[in-house]
Amino acid sequence: AGSGKFFVGGNWKCNGTKDSIAKLVSDLNSASLEADVDVVVSPPFVYIDQVKSSLTDLIEISGQNSWVGKGGAFTGEISVEQLKDIGCKWVILGHSERRHVIGEKDEFIGKKAAYALSEGLGVIACIGEKLEEREAGKTFDVCFEQLKAFADAVPSWEKVVVAYEPVWAIGTGKVASPQQAQEVHVAVRDWLKKNVSEEVASKTRIIYGGSVNGGNCAELAKEEDIDGFLVGGASLKGPEFATIVNSVT
Ligand code: PEP
Repeated sequence: AGSGKFFVGGNWKCNGTKDSIAKLVSDLNSASLEADVDVVVSPPFVYIDQVKSSLTDLIEISGQNSWVGKGGAFTGEISVEQLKDIGCKWVILGHSERRHVIGEKDEFIGKKAAYALSEGLGVIACIGEKLEEREAGKTFDVCFEQLKAFADAVPSWEKVVVAYEPVWAIGTGKVASPQQAQEVHVAVRDWLKKNVSEEVASKTRIIYGGSVNGGNCAELAKEEDIDGFLVGGASLKGPEFATIVNSVT
């Protein structure tokens, strides 16, 4: 980890019931979490209110997606205004499941990020290559293209956290090695330096996601340019998520 505040996000995806979420919240409330870490959880929309009213204020809440502009006649969507109204401080945008399962495109994701930031939400901006892209030597090209779509759209990086999540590592149990992750994080930082500014490159937190768990987090956290994690599966288990939050120490 570098000098910025460590950031750990838990992406609960489309999982849980009122009961299982009450148990997870209770486990998180009783876990001892390192104070000097930004901790954020991202429940399914329908449970955000339940989580907000029962979870410790030490953990902030994120949406898993948001509409590209002001709310209105957009059936099935959730607006940035609604996320704020219900107590969210963050939104995850460009997650690979939305890119590759739902079909969201770079430009659309960039616009969503710009709108969320304009309304004061923080953005967890996800990028990452698929296995065939890595095997074809295109990892950097893909990540830079996705990063550029964010850079072209956002006026400020102050509330942006970049999440590098190789698609081949998400939900597969196949974690990137610390060296593989560090290599991409350095490249992303370098891209930000050349294409945005030196200040943004040094201040923006770049977190890693993809099969992070209680057993592999400490080694990953030792890498200089890994400033935290975005965690899927392991964030559904309170004690294991706490281990990941505390891995920076
Ligand atoms: C994710 O979906 O952001 C993720 C990293 O999932 P997992 O930890 O389950 O690989």
